[in-house]
Amino acid sequence: MSKRAYNFNAGPAALPLEVLQKAQEELVEYRGIGMSIMEISHRSSQYEELNAETQQLLKELFAIPDGYKVMFMQGGASTQFATIPMNFLKPGQTAGYVLTGAWADKALKEAKLFGETKIVASSEADKFTRIPDLSGLQLDPNLAYLHITSNETIEGSQYASYPDTGNVPLIGDMSSDILCRPVDVSKFSMIYAGAQKNLGPSGVTVVIMREELLADSPKHIATMLRYDTHAKNDSLYNTPPVYSVYMVNLVLKWIKENGGLTAMEKRNREKTDLIYNAIDGSGGFYRGVIAPESRSIMNITFRMKDEELEKKFAKESEQHGFVGLKGHRSVGGLRASTYNAVPYEACKALAEFMADFQRRNS
Ligand code: PMP
Repeated sequence: MSKRAYNFNAGPAALPLEVLQKAQEELVEYRGIGMSIMEISHRSSQYEELNAETQQLLKELFAIPDGYKVMFMQGGASTQFATIPMNFLKPGQTAGYVLTGAWADKALKEAKLFGETKIVASSEADKFTRIPDLSGLQLDPNLAYLHITSNETIEGSQYASYPDTGNVPLIGDMSSDILCRPVDVSKFSMIYAGAQKNLGPSGVTVVIMREELLADSPKHIATMLRYDTHAKNDSLYNTPPVYSVYMVNLVLKWIKENGGLTAMEKRNREKTDLIYNAIDGSGGFYRGVIAPESRSIMNITFRMKDEELEKKFAKESEQHGFVGLKGHRSVGGLRASTYNAVPYEACKALAEFMADFQRRNS
């Protein structure tokens, strides 16, 4: 095999090599059945087993308490932006949103199509360079829910801790940081994540939901867009994205074999320290975009003196085998996404490249 690229893509993103190799090994014939997993019924015992095992693995790894349902849905996290208000924002109610960047804003805009919303806290005035301080948060107890974006993939910010919302259900978009560290799931009524960063390939969206929330699903919305449809049918109401769920299953096993979420967090911090240290130790040659206390351990954003130099960095990094370091087109600059599957060696090589590039260009 040719050398694997140093993959810093923001999503879809790097998958563990061991997972890809296992998938390759099982592609043509899945566990002795004479076919691939893509060629069998989702009602087969093999798929039902895989579905149940994947839910169980997620419950175990993420320490999901009893009383929560794990669902595999489709339509990406973007569809969740709509299904959340469709299911939980009733006439006369208001939904709260914390505005931290581009993805929080998309979630909020979608909710506005369905009902009243309120921005409970925002860092827009600071150009989204930090997560607002929510420690003394006073919430209207009548809010339908509070929505937060745990990690802003584009800006590169991440909650260091989650707010206490009392009786107001807390809903978290964890698309770009689920399973990067242990989380107290009991703080949340719902957590959702598109798979294509830390969980597997695109095509499946993981939804973790407190069962109480399912109790009064509205009857007037499309069957496929109601959470209770998927909960009652164990994510088998219609044909699920079988191959994506299979890949999530392999990724979860990989996380387990590699020490679970405590080990993931430790490794992610070691990886990102290498790159943040390269930024902070550069005497201003590289500038971190996000306030240190809100820096993400999944997406590292930084800038340089001018766009010319940033372009040169992006181009030269590609020539040296680094992929995906250009910042999102909406914000420019540079971004290194360091999801669970990105190896320590890739981050070390990047930190070294950054130091070398600085030497050659200052
Ligand atoms: N939320 C966040 C934080 C994201 O990073 C993304 C995708 N980059 C989305 C939502 C949208 O996900 P999807 O493409 O699965 O709809």
